[in-house]
Amino acid sequence: MANLNNKNLKLAIQKQGRLTDETLEFLRRSGLEFESYKQKLFSSCRNFPLEILYVRDHDSPDYVASGTVDLGIVGQNILIEEKPKARKLLNLGYGFCSLTLAVPKESEIFDIQDLKGKTVATSYPESTKKFFKENSIPVEVVSISGSVEITPALGVAQAIVDLTSTGSTLALNDLRALTKIYESEAVLIANEEALRNGKKDLLEKLITRFKGVLSAKDYKYVMMNAPEDVLPKIKKIIPGLKSPTISSLAEEGWLSVQTVIKEDVFWETIEKLKQVGASGIIVLPIEKMII
Ligand code: AMP
Repeated sequence: MANLNNKNLKLAIQKQGRLTDETLEFLRRSGLEFESYKQKLFSSCRNFPLEILYVRDHDSPDYVASGTVDLGIVGQNILIEEKPKARKLLNLGYGFCSLTLAVPKESEIFDIQDLKGKTVATSYPESTKKFFKENSIPVEVVSISGSVEITPALGVAQAIVDLTSTGSTLALNDLRALTKIYESEAVLIANEEALRNGKKDLLEKLITRFKGVLSAKDYKYVMMNAPEDVLPKIKKIIPGLKSPTISSLAEEGWLSVQTVIKEDVFWETIEKLKQVGASGIIVLPIEKMII
């Protein structure tokens, strides 16, 4: 491909689809500068030795496995289905969806056992066969490459297995979810050899950047005022990364405490801090966090 620099790292991302916008946003938040527009086949980063290749989502794992590219960002669902020879390095926290088993709303099937001997249509035949095998339910799996939701109405299948996120596509097609087979999100995968060869150092630098963005998303920076005597209680509530930063306020007997709090325990931690006497609590987003 013209102008591709082979010494640079190569990353395959989805050309056009559900993962594309969030992937581009994630890469830019990682401080990578590049141009991207619909007709482009690849972009070279201006400030990092990285080429970004735009490919079909299902092709990324093969490119990574064969070493055509060093890295790929794909839905985990594709890894589970295709089992490429590639190493998963990071969960990226977007592109959440579930592989879901569904039946028509009016169907008399309410339990997966009721599907014995029935036909199930899907674009994920391997995952589907594995699921029914593990549950010892013999079904016929029909592999369809798109618009799986229509197959029950066409009489092709009595159930489908497809990716869902909000459930609105199922509802729109008069389908009812029976169970989730697995959950998925966007992941970063790497070629095994690239993790060992001359590109190892570059790869580590890029991964540090990615981790910085992911960690920052998980934490908030919090500043608060508190009377000196409640400091031991505050320290117990907020261990911080190592320990909180403490400085004196102009008002005697009062301190300013600065720390980071994990997003998933954020509100319960703030409640506890208020209960022990913290006030003037200010919360700031963190852009990047290198741990
Ligand atoms: P697509 O753009 O439809 O080819 O989907 C690309 C990837 O987006 C899939 O492989 C999934 O990992 C992910 N995805 C997230 N939400 C959904 C959804 N509701 N339906 C299909 N794929 C989804």
